[in-house]
Amino acid sequence: MRSFQFGQDDAILVAGAGGFIGGHVLAHFHRLGFRNLRGADIKPLDHWFQRTDGVDSRVLDLRKIEDCRAATKDMDYVFNFACDMGGMGFIESHKAECMLSVLINTHMLMAAREAGVKRYLYSSSACVYNADKQVDAEVTALKETDAYPAMPEDGYGWEKLFSERMCRHFSEDFKLETRVVRFHNVYGPWGTYDGGREKAPAAICRKVIAAKLQGKHEIEIWGDGLQTRSFMYIDDCLKGVIGIMLSDWREPINVGSSELVSINQLVDMVESIAQIKLGRRYNLAAPKGVRGRNSDNTLIRQVLNWEPSTRLIDGLRETYAWVETMMTGGDFKNRFTV
Ligand code: NAD
Repeated sequence: MRSFQFGQDDAILVAGAGGFIGGHVLAHFHRLGFRNLRGADIKPLDHWFQRTDGVDSRVLDLRKIEDCRAATKDMDYVFNFACDMGGMGFIESHKAECMLSVLINTHMLMAAREAGVKRYLYSSSACVYNADKQVDAEVTALKETDAYPAMPEDGYGWEKLFSERMCRHFSEDFKLETRVVRFHNVYGPWGTYDGGREKAPAAICRKVIAAKLQGKHEIEIWGDGLQTRSFMYIDDCLKGVIGIMLSDWREPINVGSSELVSINQLVDMVESIAQIKLGRRYNLAAPKGVRGRNSDNTLIRQVLNWEPSTRLIDGLRETYAWVETMMTGGDFKNRFTV
């Protein structure tokens, strides 16, 4: 269900381009030959995970309307990945900061409308889903309708749900074409792997590699290891994001893997890649999020005739290799194929 394609001269803004997903999206368009590209992020340029030569890369604080105007000026398409976020360790202890990202999407929508942007994509999250539907490790995969009645993750999830509705009303009232993707845990190279904002796949890779390098025999696991999740590789995330932007689908839609694993199974996979077996010290007091969460992909299969399908073990191999390179100071060759 694709109504059109991008033209090579289209002007594309990636907000949050210094981050994990935004960095990949910008690099992807550049590889495809697009040259009217702009990236914006609050981080200084030398802190961006990926820097793409020849791209108009700007340091802007997108909580401010004037910076959003500078970012969206003359742009045709906006991909908004800018957000103050992290893994469970961050979002459970920074609820106000997470809520303040509402300024980013609000001002970006206002500026995009003023600039006459053709389409605007907002990156929402599976954290919008009702917590009551995620209390069992043998979870029933979440359908888009499971966001209501609303009981999302406190702080971060409420901000995402509110911003989803902002997109909906800008579309209904101001005829701004908006698209909303609900990501389920995205992982891969060129993301956060330490410092407190990292998510489980990168964190587990880092812990296993550190244990190997330091000759340790045990790692800490947050929770009892039985909580379940699905993890989507970055290549699939790119395909989903671009597919939804090009589609006619205007409602929030899951973009996630449906390969459900427990955290223990995730650790098993990383250990098999590292060819090591470690003891596990379960920290039951650590942030652990909901008990179980998976993505129901019925809708994305209907809309795109596609769903994320990279096997977790395959994506983890790439991620492990990248984290290891970062931790040992080597040079990582980008092997992306999208
Ligand atoms: P990320 O933290 O790597 O990237 C977000 C970027 O936004 C960062 O580089 C950050 O500096 C930038 N940013 C923060 N505040 C800003 C501001 N005021 N002005 C300009 N830039 C600002 O995160 P990511 O993993 O790339 O996630 C991208 C989007 O996808 C976010 O909206 C996130 O909530 C959503 N998401 C991600 C995941 C995931 O697993 N990675 C899951 C669900 C939803």
